[in-house]
Amino acid sequence: EPVPSAEMDGFCRIFGVETEYGVAVTGANKPVDAGQVAMTMFQPIVSRSRSTNTYLTNGSRLYLDVGSHPEYATAEARDPREALAQDLAGEKVMRNLALKAQAKLRESYGEHATIHVFKNNVDSAGHAFGCHENYLVRRFVPLETIEHQLLPFLITRQLFTGAGRMTSDGFQITQRADFLDEAVSSATTRSRPMVNTRDEPHADPDSFRRLHVIIGDSNRSQWATWMKLAVTHLVLCVIEEAFRQGEPSGFEQWAFAAPAQANRAVSRFLDTPDAELALASGQTVTALQLQRQYYAAVESFLKQHADTMSTSLSNTSIAEIMGEWNSALEALAQHDYDALADRVDWAAKRRVFEALRHRRPNVTFAQLEQLELDYHDIANGRLYGSLTTREQMRQLLAAQAVEHAVHEAPADTRAALRGRFVEAALASGVQFSADWTHLTVTAPERKEAVLLDPFSAKPTAEFESLMDTLQ
Ligand code: ATP
Ligand code: MG
Ligand code: MG
Repeated sequence: EPVPSAEMDGFCRIFGVETEYGVAVTGANKPVDAGQVAMTMFQPIVSRSRSTNTYLTNGSRLYLDVGSHPEYATAEARDPREALAQDLAGEKVMRNLALKAQAKLRESYGEHATIHVFKNNVDSAGHAFGCHENYLVRRFVPLETIEHQLLPFLITRQLFTGAGRMTSDGFQITQRADFLDEAVSSATTRSRPMVNTRDEPHADPDSFRRLHVIIGDSNRSQWATWMKLAVTHLVLCVIEEAFRQGEPSGFEQWAFAAPAQANRAVSRFLDTPDAELALASGQTVTALQLQRQYYAAVESFLKQHADTMSTSLSNTSIAEIMGEWNSALEALAQHDYDALADRVDWAAKRRVFEALRHRRPNVTFAQLEQLELDYHDIANGRLYGSLTTREQMRQLLAAQAVEHAVHEAPADTRAALRGRFVEAALASGVQFSADWTHLTVTAPERKEAVLLDPFSAKPTAEFESLMDTLQ
């Protein structure tokens, strides 16, 4: 049995991002159902894997449950930049599926039929869907602690990670604040929690948990995807170390009296930037003050743990994260939202809307709504692409790095083994299945390998023997 004990000691982490997409069709010459379109998108997957649920050669999971929300869950990554590359690879995979399906759709629904695949979190009917962040955390931290100490951070983090949304009563900085209720829950479907406590570690359960964060928006901004993972990593390190030492983390006093209410207030930051949020302690604090508190705590933690922290991420420097965090909070404090428009999704959208309102004072709410949807459309949208082409949006990764991630799993996690397995299984034509911890050849003869250690890309004897059957 592999025991991932080496990674128990330091501050290494596993990151994964699940993104649900919204599907819609315009321009068809007769009514067409979005669920049917999503099924058409998945036709190549079904003919390859006999299922709408599969793993790809880059170690990621691609699936479609009932309905019209295809999902891409990235392979395990050790660095937020790698997770970003994998998430962008997911956009690319979805776009390719959509454009193929669109060509097919046009045979029956006319040459103008257009498939839209939205990387957002609310559809036109008012249904919300998700973007889940996954963090491996050490088992010795109780979940209630994470709930109490991390949630105020996650709620106020949206000041720079929110994707923004036009609503009939104003522009909010988040997509889903109005849809989330309880702070923590073990179900994601019946209620809409902010952190999910279902205990599925996808790793050695004695050593690790998988923290499953529901509250975040899907981001188009590369900076925002990278940043939300990076900065959350730092806060988790502080909490874990406090537990290791049996000391307080300093975050105890920041629990909100009513998290969902605080979340909705933060989402209306542009109307009331100085809203006082009620803490369980009876005190109040503004969203920015709270972010400053977390920043200060991380900064002082880093003074004592500089060496171990510097090796916790493989491709992101801690100083870079702190610098980005600080300058984002500075710009917010000065209400200089345009300074953030090249990297914060809500600020980018806001800048576009303001410019349009200025040029065309009669622009309608419906027109702005269309433009907003276009920003999120990864299949046929134009706005986001034009912002990046004009260098109005920061890009962290070259197109080449994204293309690489479409084909290659992260090399330093077990995803590398999964990728190799899927590739070999497809090439040899056997029937196979997989999940995050298992690789299985199901026919002609059943054979399986268990990969319990997400940090290890080293082939086990069991893995080698499974691979031997695929020659
Ligand atoms: P649901 O879609 O119902 O929320 P889920 O969250 O259980 O399902 P998946 O959609 O399969 O599961 O996604 C799991 C995510 O967790 C992936 O992005 C994967 O990379 C990541 N992951 C896998 N193992 C670990 C781990 N040990 N720690 C943290 N993240 C992990
Ligand atoms: Mg999922
Ligand atoms: Mg999930």
